[in-house]
Amino acid sequence: MRAENRRLMLNLLWKEREASRAELARRTGLSRSTVSAIIEDLMETGLVREARTGASTGGRRPIVLAFQADAALLVGVEFGATHISLVLTDLYCTVREFREVACPVRDEPETALRWVEDGIRALLGGARGGSPELVGIGVAAPSPIDPRRPGELVPTIVPKWAGIDVARRLGRAFGRPVLLDNDANLGALAEHWWGASQSPHLAYLKVATGIGAGLILDGRVFRGIGGVAGEIGHTSIDPNGPACMCGLRGCLTTLVGTQRLFELVRERRAIHPTGPLDTGPLSVDALVDAGLAGDALARDVLAHAGRTLGIGVANLLNLVNPERVVVGGGLTRAGDLLLEPLRERVRSLALAESIAQAAIEPASLGERGIAIGAATLVLEKALAFPSTFPQRVKRGVRT
Ligand SMILES: [Zn+2]
Repeated sequence: MRAENRRLMLNLLWKEREASRAELARRTGLSRSTVSAIIEDLMETGLVREARTGASTGGRRPIVLAFQADAALLVGVEFGATHISLVLTDLYCTVREFREVACPVRDEPETALRWVEDGIRALLGGARGGSPELVGIGVAAPSPIDPRRPGELVPTIVPKWAGIDVARRLGRAFGRPVLLDNDANLGALAEHWWGASQSPHLAYLKVATGIGAGLILDGRVFRGIGGVAGEIGHTSIDPNGPACMCGLRGCLTTLVGTQRLFELVRERRAIHPTGPLDTGPLSVDALVDAGLAGDALARDVLAHAGRTLGIGVANLLNLVNPERVVVGGGLTRAGDLLLEPLRERVRSLALAESIAQAAIEPASLGERGIAIGAATLVLEKALAFPSTFPQRVKRGVRT
């Protein structure tokens, strides 16, 4: 009972940021003495402190209690297919530090994990106030996460990561809880908690090296029984199409993943060898930059990508009926060069009722969104189970 009341008060203070003991008693229905005892307890942890005296409403001026956003910090890690991002955030997931590096994550798990360990140490060492308390580490993976093996990536999608328990390894290194989830799920979680729309019926489409979707249904991430929900990149578009890395044929990813887009560029530039994509290595950035600069070949390939994605999104709208489809990932920087052909295809393929209320928009949190989602995963757990917070944060340091 006491733990439940403590959770209730902590969540209320986190949400409101400030409140007096009298307000907390009124809002929770708990007695003043219970509220006072729990606040005493929370002040011990450093998560709450007496900030100032408020305005009087007749009697003694009340003391305003404030939730301490900096009492402990969160780390979010995004493993992309070819890059890693790290964020260090406060307890409202405001980014304090950000790091990013290009890394062949799929093929070199050991390199990737070492960079993350060093990166987290550097972030914590460089943080203001020196070596702050860490609540935990959230990890976004380019793979579904099977709840029966919550610390590992699924080897069908990333074979070289087979048998590596990421949660155990980072947990040992930092002595704090480590939570993993699929990257698109965490993109969805971040948009739901902190994004422009925060709709409780939201689909996040990640368009990068591969294609994935994260689903928020009735305000919660929907993962399915084995963590595979939202794997739109491996839905079948053409059963006779090219082989996919997952072992199936004609998956959406084979038709619109970056590999296929680069193939298209190479095929077409042989016919029109005059644009900015003629020479040099192809990358998502080069493709998007050329498109934004007006290159016809790049625009053509981006429009093809949008139309092909539109098939997947139309099916998604009919299946899930979300209010928002938020599109994130590297290709999204192309903006309407990608999104307009996508919307047009959706209008021609989805039921009018599914389209009627569905806005298809670029992600509002930008390139850091998924890493912020990873930090949010830890925060969500800590607010649900407050014993997750470190129990001796900064006591005696702050005044
Ligand atoms: Zn596939």
